[in-house]
Amino acid sequence: MNSRFFRPIHFPENLILRGMKKPLSNWSNYPIREAEVVSLRGEKDIARLLQGGNMIPRGLWPLLRRCFAGGECSVTTCYSNILSFDPVTGIICCEAGTSLKDLLDIFVPRGWFLPVTPGTKFITVGGAVASDVHRKNHHAEGAFSNHVLSMQVYTPAFGVMSCGPSENPDLFNATCGGMGLTVRDYEYYLSAEEIESAFIRQKTDQGFKP
Ligand SMILES: Cc1cc2nc3c(=O)[nH]c(=O)nc-3n(C[C@H](O)[C@H](O)[C@H](O)COP(=O)(O)OP(=O)(O)OC[C@H]3O[C@@H](n4cnc5c(N)ncnc54)[C@H](O)[C@@H]3O)c2cc1C
Repeated sequence: MNSRFFRPIHFPENLILRGMKKPLSNWSNYPIREAEVVSLRGEKDIARLLQGGNMIPRGLWPLLRRCFAGGECSVTTCYSNILSFDPVTGIICCEAGTSLKDLLDIFVPRGWFLPVTPGTKFITVGGAVASDVHRKNHHAEGAFSNHVLSMQVYTPAFGVMSCGPSENPDLFNATCGGMGLTVRDYEYYLSAEEIESAFIRQKTDQGFKP
């Protein structure tokens, strides 16, 4: 179902925005490294760029630790469209640069929630898959990738491929938790869960009575 809330913005195709060198860092602001930041608009941009050599994708940058060592870096937040939503199954299709904040802002008031959300919502879906993030319900729901039904990725050798738990599972498993080193992801089908409200029903038991 496409509604006016989910209408994609179409940028001109094959438009790579080459940026200047910028100082980049992580959540703790250390270390700071110079990088050339490039904005990509979609599959064709990714293909052209990967032919050029080393480049790591970047979402909203809240990595807790040192992962990014400088060099060239492609920003994914310019492809952040929610492409479709099925209100019967709760399946969301979105692009890699979509933030969890945007998904929650749109879907929680409509009664849907992502089964796995980490301690910050200021990350992208691409970053969530690349780090295969977890929440406090890890023992029950598993990691973020447990709720990814399928995704489109760009591989340097074979171009665009679709993968999921049962379709090209090796590629899927290498991508989830692959920290952007294997492929560039750009589109996902996620399954959301239905919720009664945005509030939590909580029961507290006193564990220790002297
Ligand atoms: C306050 C705070 C709390 C946090 N809590 C948790 C938590 O509870 N559980 C947990 O698991 N994590 C947690 N994290 C870590 C955070 O969820 C991850 O670091 C997440 O990957 C950041 O996503 P991002 O979109 O900002 O990507 P970035 O930090 O920019 O990138 C993360 C990695 O993903 C890769 N990547 C990004 N986009 C793509 C793409 N489109 N295709 C391929 N690779 C890509 C990058 O190359 C990089 O290796 C927390 C972080 C902070 C700062």
